[in-house]
Order: sequence, then structure tokens, then C-alpha cells
Amino acid sequence: MGECDRGVTATIPQLIATLEAMGSDVTYHREDDGAACPCRSPEGFRDPVWHRAHPLEPVCNEQGFLTVAVEFTVKASIQPAVTRSFSRPDQRTDVLLADIQKNDKIGVFPVEWNGKTLNFLDWSEAGEDYILYDDHRYMVVAADKVPDIDGDPNHHWEVGLRLVRDRSL
Ligand SMILES: [Zn+2]
Repeated sequence: MGECDRGVTATIPQLIATLEAMGSDVTYHREDDGAACPCRSPEGFRDPVWHRAHPLEPVCNEQGFLTVAVEFTVKASIQPAVTRSFSRPDQRTDVLLADIQKNDKIGVFPVEWNGKTLNFLDWSEAGEDYILYDDHRYMVVAADKVPDIDGDPNHHWEVGLRLVRDRSL
């Protein structure tokens, strides 16, 4: 007793169970800015000279940070964007909804999956960050974090996904 009974009505476990049963396997991949590289100057510039002098050290990105790849598989509900729209269309979804392209998808993702947190904000458009679904890479062009009816702000993500065109390698 004395136990909070919020869990009885919380709908997040139901969402997770539904995704476990009916969701698609999707790879979530983000390049997070990690630690500042030792080469980085106090003014925030990276120093290629330092890297030539330390050829065995890892190479930082343009901003002088040693990025860390975060990648894991998650279950998500993915549907064509033409048959499903955001549940809160007043959110920052205009990018997607104003210009739906062939192959655009709407994805419902958990906020947390097996202890890992998903974040679709500030998604890179340069291709470092991507969602791999059905053997294709997608980038996130709109995202809305939808709260639970019980007030928990982290119920699920609604995400607009746009196919990344195959670039000849
Ligand atoms: Zn560096």
C-alpha cells in the first residue's frame, strides 16, 4: 500500500505493448556531439595542425567535437503520410504537411525503448542522423512529442520521415 496507482491508468505501457506486437523494426541512428576535441581552440576552432601531429588520435567534426554514434533498434508504427496526419496539426508539422512528397511516412515512436531515450529534435539534414526502415534511410522533417493523457509529457513521438535519395557512392 502507499504505492502510487498511477501505473494502473498509465497508457505508456499499453503503447509499448502495442508496438512490441505490431510495430516494425526500425534503426535509430544519431551522431551526438560528444566531448570537445583536444585540438579545439578556446575560440571554438578545430586545429588540423594538431591532428597531423597526433595521427593516432580520433578525428573530430567541423565544430571540433568528437561525435558519438548512437544506434539501436526500436519498434515503431510507420505509415504513409497520405493516410495519416499528426494528431496535433498545430505543432511544428507544417514542414511536412505543406509539402508531402511521395514516400513520406508518419512514424509513431516511443520516447523510451529498453532504457534508451529517443530524441527527434534538431535532426541533422546533412545525413549523419537517420532512421533506417525497410532498407531505406529516412530523415526527420517534423517531430512532435505527444504527452500522455495522465500528464506525463513523454507518451510518444509523432515523426515526419522523408526518404533520403540514394546518392551514388
Ligand atoms: Zn580535433
